[in-house]
Amino acid sequence: WAKAAGGDRYEVYDASRHDAQALRSTLGSGLRVALHQGDFVILYQPIVRLADGAPVGAEALLRWTHPEYGPVAPEIFIELAEELGLIGQLGRWVLTRGCRQAASWYREFGDRAPFVSVNLSARQLHDVGLAEELLATLDEVGLPAGQLQLELTESALLGPAQGPADALEVLAGHGVRVAVDDFGTGYSNLAYLRRLPVRELKIAGAFIEGLTPGLSGTPADRQIVASVVGLAHGLNLTVTAEGVETREQAQLLRSMGCDHAQGWWFARPGDPDLLSRMVAGQDIKSVAPAPAR
Ligand code: C2E
Ligand code: MG
Ligand code: MG
Ligand code: MG
Repeated sequence: WAKAAGGDRYEVYDASRHDAQALRSTLGSGLRVALHQGDFVILYQPIVRLADGAPVGAEALLRWTHPEYGPVAPEIFIELAEELGLIGQLGRWVLTRGCRQAASWYREFGDRAPFVSVNLSARQLHDVGLAEELLATLDEVGLPAGQLQLELTESALLGPAQGPADALEVLAGHGVRVAVDDFGTGYSNLAYLRRLPVRELKIAGAFIEGLTPGLSGTPADRQIVASVVGLAHGLNLTVTAEGVETREQAQLLRSMGCDHAQGWWFARPGDPDLLSRMVAGQDIKSVAPAPAR
């Protein structure tokens, strides 16, 4: 098609593809080096209980700064790690670090310690050794399984593959929490909710953005959020709203019965200290439910 459109176009297309490939291979080798040296950082974003603003959990969010290009978005380097077959190693690093951090909070705060929520890519879920390895890690760092949550997107959870389902069953059987990330943005097939040991739904930030009147606000988003809250509670699952940026959104979510929330209005992803301060009762933001209308 590009050829038919004319020689110029073809060349431009070709050149930009060449650049993109050069960039990928540079980033790829940077990624290998970083992995070798453990050059990644994990930030923790508080997940709070809407009823009182208390931190119940923390999502582990991976950061990588390329020595030359600066910070690289996780979506980009994680996809690259998947393509290069490095995701197993990178994912294990995040899980181990995350579990260690959770164990440290657990020693410090006991029952009030936040659970740590780690994002898992689909590839990791297909790793046959996952469940066994993870249980060994929990044991090694002294973390009760209920203090670890795994976040999986709908597309990672879909499909007939039995291996991943078995792994989740084993982990959930030990008490590890399983959450569906970005709920509502994947496929609309909900059958996996029947089949898999899911404990929590995380409503994608895109829907929260449209919750309150404004440029992008639509009545549909409000209906969607209300429906997801209803669905979650009907299935005995907890529900977390992602990407909460305003007090108004937080208030509305609270009055809609949403359990937990996460977003810039409460706290940006930060150092583990941020969570420790919040557990100690500092920097807590809470909202009263929005008045009925
Ligand atoms: P996610 O799991 O859906 O994470 C939520 C994203 O929303 C994070 O982006 C977070 O920084 C951002 N966020 C938090 N609060 C707000 C807010 O109020 N407004 C807006 N606009 N955004 C907010 P981040 O850190 O850039 O991560 C992007 C994605 O990269 C994550 O989406 C997740 O899918 C992936 N990711 C991050 N760390 C890991 C990891 O260790 N392993 C895997 N497999 N994926 C990861
Ligand atoms: Mg997530
Ligand atoms: Mg998400
Ligand atoms: Mg996402």
